[in-house]
Amino acid sequence: MSRSDRANMDVGCPECNAIVTATVPPGPGIASDRDSNRLQGRDTVCHNCGHELELYYY
Ligand SMILES: [Zn+2]
Repeated sequence: MSRSDRANMDVGCPECNAIVTATVPPGPGIASDRDSNRLQGRDTVCHNCGHELELYYY
């Protein structure tokens, strides 16, 4: 198992409880820039039921 620059997030689909794995790109300074309100979001579609998930990370 090798580590890449991207982090995987496992989230549970609220519709069918399937585990959806989303790939989150690396940020240059996620933890140090919380005041600027630059919340990043990513849309992911559940592979099981097609429910659209919005993931936010910062
Ligand atoms: Zn689902």
